[in-house]
Amino acid sequence: MNIKELDEKYILPTYAKADVAFVKGENATLFDINGKKYIDFTSGIGVVSVGHANRRVTEALREQISQITHISNLYYNLPQAKAAQRVVEASGYDMQCFFGNSGAEANEGAIKIARKHGERDGEIKRYKIITLNHSFHGRTITTVKATGQESMHNYFGPFPDGFVYADGIDEIESLLDDHTAGVMIELIQGEGGVEPQDREKVQALAKLLKEKEIPLIVDEVQTGCYRVGEFTASQAYGIEPEIITLAKGVGGGVPVGIVMTTLKNVLSAGDHGSTFGGNYLSSRAVCEVVDILSELKKSGDLESRSLIFNQALETFYKKHQDIFTQKVGFGMMCGLRVKDAETLSNIIDGARENGVMVLKAGRNTLRFLPPLTITKEEINEGFEALCIAVSRL
Ligand SMILES: *Cc1c(COP(=O)(O)O)cnc(C)c1O
Repeated sequence: MNIKELDEKYILPTYAKADVAFVKGENATLFDINGKKYIDFTSGIGVVSVGHANRRVTEALREQISQITHISNLYYNLPQAKAAQRVVEASGYDMQCFFGNSGAEANEGAIKIARKHGERDGEIKRYKIITLNHSFHGRTITTVKATGQESMHNYFGPFPDGFVYADGIDEIESLLDDHTAGVMIELIQGEGGVEPQDREKVQALAKLLKEKEIPLIVDEVQTGCYRVGEFTASQAYGIEPEIITLAKGVGGGVPVGIVMTTLKNVLSAGDHGSTFGGNYLSSRAVCEVVDILSELKKSGDLESRSLIFNQALETFYKKHQDIFTQKVGFGMMCGLRVKDAETLSNIIDGARENGVMVLKAGRNTLRFLPPLTITKEEINEGFEALCIAVSRL
């Protein structure tokens, strides 16, 4: 049986898959099963932040695998403690970490911390979590309910209670009450369509929530780990959230989810856990990824790559104003609004046929999440291929 037949026979059909199978990668370059080459402007939805088959990550993992990969969270684990140190120091916040395996799991942990914090603080039980419309927080029963998209609440109920959706940052204040345990936002909505929030409004919200002692949870699963230039988008926005979640790019391709918080004394032994979370393998990956990217940041290379990428994107956008209506995003989390959804899906298919991988976000946004280590040559090659694909529409 070929891959497609095997997949159709044994894999549940939860994804609409494109007709391609990759076997090898090198930085932002991919090769499929037929040896065809592609430039990767997706990094697997913002995961492979340090590029495919990164030499340093590969070496670290190879060394770790040959020694020990897993022994549960019942014992001390040096790579995990070091990974937490790396992440906390890179953020500049006075926080502690909990390690899980995915973005949804990180957000579950964040909600648990906010709710237990709300229960401890006074007689009134605080349980409500306010999130935004068009948000995306994950696929578990709780995080799908936290996601402010009605279309995702069609099945799977009954859901956990207490999720309230605000129509933008402006509306949050009017929804706060004595039962509010936390407010969870993405600073740049990813799946929702590369939608950055307004900096002043976010700062005002953060200040208001501090006054009311309601934790601000920033879901940085997509924006985190230098995707937007700083280690967290929260730093770029100049705010100090009580809880931040990370996943995607922070493991560089190894599954990991992290909740980090200033609320260090809320959870105690037995309140939360994860069998795989923070094992030697994923923790070593986190250490290496954060080291690589913080060195890239210090050298100025992170910024110059982002600049080159954005200039190339701007040129591409200007050339095709009949198709694209707006350029959006921050750092290496960018998008182009496309005039209609059908054109968008044609662009993505055409791009793949011409050897460049791009993503969709929301209804009408062409999304770019390249590896942060992408080279100038890869950027130019990718946009050349994209130009050809678009001119053939
Ligand atoms: C991808 C994503 C998630 C879910 O992460 P998983 O690892 O798929 O569970 C949550 N929040 C945001 C902002 C994301 O982009």
